[in-house]
This record gives sequence, structure tokens and C-alpha cells, in this order.
Amino acid sequence: MAATIIDGKALAAKVRAEVADEVAELGHVGLATVLVGDDPASHVYINSKQKMATAAGIEAHDHRLPGDMSQDDLLAFIAELNADDSIDGLLVQLPLPDHIEEHTIIEAIDPAKDIDGIHPYNAGRLMMGRPTLVPATPRGIMRMLEEYEIELQGANAVVIGRSNIVGKPVALLLLQKDATVTICHSKTQDLAALAAQADILVAAIGRAKFVTGAMVKPGACVIDVGINRLPDGTLAGDVDYAAAREVAGWITPVPGGVGPMTIAMLLENCLKAANESAA
Ligand code: NAD
Repeated sequence: MAATIIDGKALAAKVRAEVADEVAELGHVGLATVLVGDDPASHVYINSKQKMATAAGIEAHDHRLPGDMSQDDLLAFIAELNADDSIDGLLVQLPLPDHIEEHTIIEAIDPAKDIDGIHPYNAGRLMMGRPTLVPATPRGIMRMLEEYEIELQGANAVVIGRSNIVGKPVALLLLQKDATVTICHSKTQDLAALAAQADILVAAIGRAKFVTGAMVKPGACVIDVGINRLPDGTLAGDVDYAAAREVAGWITPVPGGVGPMTIAMLLENCLKAANESAA
């Protein structure tokens, strides 16, 4: 039997509507996005974050800065936004140009405004099991698992990918829900065999159709984080969707799965930051 499709698009619309209601109740929520340089994909991401934030009633400030600006100038700009009481959430789009040190910039963001959840303070809180602002993609994944009532306690969860923004935080969140978590990466041996034991399989690799149908345990829940552009211009996930959906119990499509949830949870993080600052 084919898998149940986890409809991230519909769930994201529901989350965004909830956020919009709460923003209206709170009166004012401010977001600042900062994009340095000309990376085309980054401009597309920022466009949709801006659009969704505005639609939710968030006052969204869109800062697009020249790719040759100095690191010191960027740090000074971030300091201004940190000090601005009308800004609740501050997001610096990655990647940054090569001459700017990513870690230095991330650490300069006020942790209370860090709606990407990547400042070491927020990452550390997550590691300690006391999460504050948590990266949006992992939160979106957990929200989908909750909505579809996927059993996590005692489940075997395998996460492929160990990035700071997806792989590691989602592994920690699954661990907090009492799953037994294995993190796989580019040096993992027998990855296919490990994946085939997973009740929950999260693919966050960035390689189209990396996860084959044979790597999916019958009845498993497959979460596909990957967004890969194929030579014909279409998008593909990290999972061979057509093959995996015949084996899995649940599966997220690409597009329409994790992607829309990421932006919805980012808005929820912005609201959370605003609520904390109002408290
Ligand atoms: P990343 O490049 O930072 O990390 C990729 C990870 O995959 C690494 O940890 C690496 O060890 C692992 N990997 C690479 N090759 C591998 C191999 N052959 N075998 C096993 N593991 C391997 O990527 P990221 O930022 O975590 O993003 C991963 C994918 O998810 C990308 O396609 C990205 O575009 C997508 N993404 C989607 C969303 C969304 O909202 N849907 C959000 C963030 C990232």
C-alpha cells in the first residue's frame, strides 16, 4: 500500500494562520532580514520569507547589502538591529561572502532575536534539553510528526546529514522525544543498512534521490529535507519519492513537504521572540 503523504503545504498554511492571529493580538511583531551579496537562491529564499511574514501581519524589514561590504560594517549593522526595540526577530541569510566569517556574524546576533536558532546560546540550550529558539526546519519536521501522530518513543530514528541547521538539531529534538537516534554522514559505513532499520528516516543531504526504495523500512516515516534542482529544472528531494512511497508508511513530498513548514516555523519563532521580549 502506498504511503500516507504528509501535507506540509496544508499544515504550514494552518500554522501561518495561527501566527497571524497571534500577531494581531500582540499588536506589533518586527522582523529584520539581512542578505549580503548576490546569491540568486538566497534572494529567492528572502523574497518568500518577506512575503510570508508580511502576509502574517509581521512588520518585515528587508535589508539587502552589497557583497563587498566589510565584516566590520556588517557587525556594526547587526549591532544597530540588536539595539532596535522594534525588531523582535533578526535573520542573516547564509551563506555569506567568503571574506566574512560566518561564526563571527552568528555570534554577534542577539540570542533573543536569533530566530534561526543558530547562535551558540540557543544551540547549547537545545543540547541541554532546554530549548529556546530552535532552527525552523527541525521544528517544522517535529510539528509534522506530531500532526500525523507518528510514534517517537522508543522508535529507531536515523538522520542522514549532520549540519548545524538541520541534521544535528533534528537529531536532538528526536532524542528529546525518546527516539533512539543514529546520525549518518558522508563517512558512515553501511549507511543503507542503517537506514533500512529506521522507523523514522530523515534525509538532509543535498543529493537528489540519494535514498532509494530499498533503504526504506516497510511502514517507516520518511522525511525528505533535500531541495535539489535537476538538470531539467525540476526540484527533487534527497529521497527517490516514487520508489519510497511504495514502501513507506508516511512520506513528505518535495516540493510541498518540509519546505513550506520551514518558513511557517520561522514566523512562529519570530512571534515567540516577540512574546518573550514583551514578557
Ligand atoms: P549541508 O551541506 O550543510 O549538510 C549536508 C550533510 O549531508 C552533511 O552533514 C554531510 O555529512 C551529509 N552528506 C553529504 N554527502 C553524503 C553522503 N554521500 N552520504 C551521507 N551523508 C552525506 O546541508 P544542509 O544545510 O543540512 O541541507 C541539506 C539539504 O536540505 C540541502 O538539499 C538543502 O537545500 C536542504 N534544506 C532544505 C530546507 C527546507 O526548508 N526544506 C532547509 C534547509 C536545508
